[in-house]
Amino acid sequence: ISIPKEQLGTENAIMRLEARKRSLSPEFAEQRRARQSLPAWRERQNVVDAVSNHRVVVLTGETGCGKTTQVPQYVLEEAELQGSGAEVHIVVTQPRRIAAISVAERVAWERGEALGKSVGYAIRLESSLPRARGSILYCTTGILLHRLQRTDGLAGVSHVIIDEVHERDVDTDFLLVVIRELLNHSPSLRVVIMSATLDASVFTRYFGGCPLVNIPGRTYPVRVYNLDDLPELMGRFFLPASRPAHGGSLDEEDVDVDLIVSVIVWVSQIFAQGDGAILCFLPGWDTISIVRDRLLKVHASRFMMVVPLHSQLPAGEQRAAFSRAPSGMRKVVLATNIAETSVTIDDVVYVVDSGKIKEKQYDVSRNLTTMRVQWTSQASARQRQGRAGRVQAGYCFQLYSEATFLSMLNHQIPEMQRVPLEEICLQIKAILSPSTVVGGKAKTAEVDTPEESKVGTNGIATFLSKAIQPPTAFSVYAAIQVLQQLGAIDQFENLTPLGRALARLTVHPRFGKMLVYGALLGCLDPLLTIAAAACFRDPFVSPLNRREEADHVRASFGTGVSYGSDQLAFVNAFQQWKSAESNYRGHTFCEENFLVFTTMRLIAGMRTQFERTLREAGLCEPHVQSTMNPVVSAHLARSLLAAGLYPNIVRSEHFRESKGMKNATKHAYRWRLGFRGQSGRVFLHPTSVLSEKNLNPSSNYYLVFQEKVQTSQVFIRGCTLLPPLAMVLLGWNITVSKDISTGTTPTPNGDWMLLRVEGWLSFFIDHRAGLLLLQ
Ligand code: ADP
Ligand code: MG
Repeated sequence: ISIPKEQLGTENAIMRLEARKRSLSPEFAEQRRARQSLPAWRERQNVVDAVSNHRVVVLTGETGCGKTTQVPQYVLEEAELQGSGAEVHIVVTQPRRIAAISVAERVAWERGEALGKSVGYAIRLESSLPRARGSILYCTTGILLHRLQRTDGLAGVSHVIIDEVHERDVDTDFLLVVIRELLNHSPSLRVVIMSATLDASVFTRYFGGCPLVNIPGRTYPVRVYNLDDLPELMGRFFLPASRPAHGGSLDEEDVDVDLIVSVIVWVSQIFAQGDGAILCFLPGWDTISIVRDRLLKVHASRFMMVVPLHSQLPAGEQRAAFSRAPSGMRKVVLATNIAETSVTIDDVVYVVDSGKIKEKQYDVSRNLTTMRVQWTSQASARQRQGRAGRVQAGYCFQLYSEATFLSMLNHQIPEMQRVPLEEICLQIKAILSPSTVVGGKAKTAEVDTPEESKVGTNGIATFLSKAIQPPTAFSVYAAIQVLQQLGAIDQFENLTPLGRALARLTVHPRFGKMLVYGALLGCLDPLLTIAAAACFRDPFVSPLNRREEADHVRASFGTGVSYGSDQLAFVNAFQQWKSAESNYRGHTFCEENFLVFTTMRLIAGMRTQFERTLREAGLCEPHVQSTMNPVVSAHLARSLLAAGLYPNIVRSEHFRESKGMKNATKHAYRWRLGFRGQSGRVFLHPTSVLSEKNLNPSSNYYLVFQEKVQTSQVFIRGCTLLPPLAMVLLGWNITVSKDISTGTTPTPNGDWMLLRVEGWLSFFIDHRAGLLLLQ
């Protein structure tokens, strides 16, 4: 973008004057005071010098020291005062949506402006972009990655600041690879990497020994006691594990609740004088509820203000953790590892650390997601302990022994090594061959334009091997296979036109493909809801104390044309919510039906975005309303689920299990197909609308599922009863065996055939259809 020289000069002069005003005028005294009280302020010159002298700088500092809000401002202000403010465009990435907005608001306030002037934000479905020359944009990591699919993705950007890199989430790790490659091709680009943990050597090494700037925190000493010390310290208060080791029900999060409760009560009674808050780290929502309920039952809780803190809580309830306790009361915050680095509670003096986290892990070879509670890492144990010393000298009580601490991993396993990689691999292809936008329509760059060589032209595996801690070759291979089978890339790993459309859809390509099919077959509406829901957390909640009621309400949506399908049950719920919403009853509807209103809103927004993207890709006609009969549409949607989720298919089975004296017949499912032809027994997730009692136990049927999850057992989630023919027609990788026999069951009047697929799935179909398939 070229701007006339004089105009740029004037803009720069205006910015310089404004910057001076902010640094002197009484109008901005409050903002100045707030900013200058932060630890980052003292390092301001160091930060500015490092960024201007080096192309890449790694910056570390405790949570709350001012990295996110101040560092981009320092860089912009320095340029403003030097008279080049209008040429600085800073993009700051955030792993979390909420952080991007709240930080942008804060920084706009500090600059005495409204959002959207020189400071803005962009997250999925929402943005307020800065209009001024000379700007700071806070965006989610995903948004920046998405922009990089276009050749002009970084046009005009002078600085990229990658924030919260210590979280090691998959998008950030991936962005680091892309940015490191881009540095070779964009000579003027400057990069700042920001981390809240002290040990940043992994990042400086990754960027070829680049300089490191540390912002020293205001921390006070923390006295640490672990499980070995607690009996002596707590005396009669000490309550060791009274429960036996558990076989584990679904909700068991494997923590010692008695011990946790006793330590919290002890701290709140013994350390009575101070008004410091207690912060207790727990693995997940279930444990938080259990500990809260138990705490509220003990006598001492009359003097406690117990507040949960969890990322799934609505923003309003999250705020409670930051308010002060009434006098005479002790604030007890029960938190997940969200309180480790991403949010800071100012008045914490005591940390009680269960030492546990709940971590999601995906095992490619078994196509299995595990949600396990396990020991955290040494690094995060230290981080948790540091949370106690922010306002004064503090205490940390670790509910594990020294030996356990030593057995913990140094660092947690980065997300890139724990998640399915299809989306990332597809994005790599889209970034390696970016498209240019011509007259509003995206076009793929010609093969040998300079843009093409921007980030190198190597294959997916080579590209991912450059990550800080690359994923295993097998999981990359598996992802490439899925993409090839979906038709997103060809056998040489070239992006197909379908693949480019799928990359633009920002949903797992399996759901992207369902959308494309849905658009082509005129059955888009239910698929839009299904795909949009797949982008967010399950909108249905089942509170611990009302679980049965919640499951019952959910199941009630899975009737009529939605029978036997979790996805269609949600489509049904969504439609009802939409009409309630148009009568201003959306909130009430959610409360009555155990739905999360904010998630429903997001899903509605995502639907609109998908529709727009499909239209832009020329895959769906504008303003064409489907007049399809709901029965047909639901049937088609089931088939398309099969097309997208194949080979995630299970067959019903019965087995006998002897428990005590009784010989009970139980119902389960058997999965097969998939890598290495493994098979095994799985159970329906208890929240599924296909509760076993509704299904006829004597007949055989097939389900597609979205996810296979291991908790106490292996469960399948997101299930739909399948029309068998759909698997043959739309599932890929199927070989219909030629030996169509008449089957073991006598056929009604001779015009049915028994069809076998891969020797495992078998069903009767109309013989004409069978003959057609064989051709
Ligand atoms: P870091 O990125 O180092 O964790 P931030 O730059 O996010 O730190 O925040 C620095 C300080 O600014 C915080 O400690 C807090 O006091 C203040 N702050 C940040 N955001 C807000 C906000 N939305 N409202 C009030 N204070 C805020
Ligand atoms: Mg920050």
